[in-house]
Amino acid sequence: RPRSLSGIQPTAESFHLGNYLGAVRQWVGLQEDHDAFYFIADLHALTVQPDPAQLRARVHRSAAQLLAAGVDPERSALFCQSHVPEHTQLAWVFNCLTGFGEAGRMTQFKDKSAKAGADKASVGLFTYPILQAADILLYNPHHVPVGEDQRQHLELSRNLAQRFNHHYGETFRQPEAYIVKGTAKIADLQDPTAKMSKSASSPNGIVDLLDDPKKAAKKIRSAVTDSGDTIRYDPEGQPGIANLLTLFATVAGTTVDDVVAQFEGQQYGHLKVALADLVADLVSGFGERTRAYLDDPAELDRVLAAGAARAREVAAPVVVDVYDKVGLVRGV
Ligand code: ATP
Ligand code: MG
Repeated sequence: RPRSLSGIQPTAESFHLGNYLGAVRQWVGLQEDHDAFYFIADLHALTVQPDPAQLRARVHRSAAQLLAAGVDPERSALFCQSHVPEHTQLAWVFNCLTGFGEAGRMTQFKDKSAKAGADKASVGLFTYPILQAADILLYNPHHVPVGEDQRQHLELSRNLAQRFNHHYGETFRQPEAYIVKGTAKIADLQDPTAKMSKSASSPNGIVDLLDDPKKAAKKIRSAVTDSGDTIRYDPEGQPGIANLLTLFATVAGTTVDDVVAQFEGQQYGHLKVALADLVADLVSGFGERTRAYLDDPAELDRVLAAGAARAREVAAPVVVDVYDKVGLVRGV
């Protein structure tokens, strides 16, 4: 079976609609016919110096949310990045294969460091795409389900795979980004030209999956829309409405064309009210399932431990092979 792999950062109390529709839903779909490896990127979360107690709690919340979203630990290895030390072991090798300028061209780093202030951005934030290349290539996945914002990092992973193979012999597969067109960049509800983001969106710009359903509905109803009053799909001219149409189509399981037809001649407000109901239902069920998993932290730990054991079976021999190939002498 082909392999799929992806990760998500425990950088907030809740995942948001963009994470779910853009990425995690695809994780769940791919586990049907892929050997799947999905992880909570706790080491990546360290790049922004989170509070330790908060980070610990968020790892459990992340695991519970992934289970609530439908990641099935019987079929997918669900684990915590820091439980598989091979990720950082391989990352060092890739650090040494990446050019300084090459790393500096990563737009996520430019955006996030600009926000933090140049002096405050950590070296970890700078090198995190390289750790991400290790996260991915360790498992030789065919498909990496992510949102549009990860495309450049995936390209770096592909380049590093090729570079390593060129220097040291065929070792890594060049993974394909698995990016679903319509939902790859769910927009911030208050600023439809920006992506919805755990760390950058304002509270009203983001629908958290663990939001109270009434609050989620209210956020949808107060989404910023464009001037004009015709409901049509025009991401350039009417990004606010285009985002709501995408959300509606995906959550309702239909197409944007069908939604446009359904609301023909109606006003923006009608679309918002109907979408608000759909989203309230979605977060209501999601919240219930997540809370049920959170009630049993020992079971979450058991799931993560089993996932890490399966991941290490794959990852450990890769690091041995890589260390041999680059000329490190095996310890006795
Ligand atoms: P942060 O702001 O901390 O970077 P994030 O919201 O970007 O958080 P990540 O944990 O970095 O979330 O990303 C998890 C997955 O969700 C990735 O595959 C990413 O591409 C995807 N993703 C994030 N935001 C969106 C969005 N607005 N639309 C679609 N996919 C998204
Ligand atoms: Mg992100």
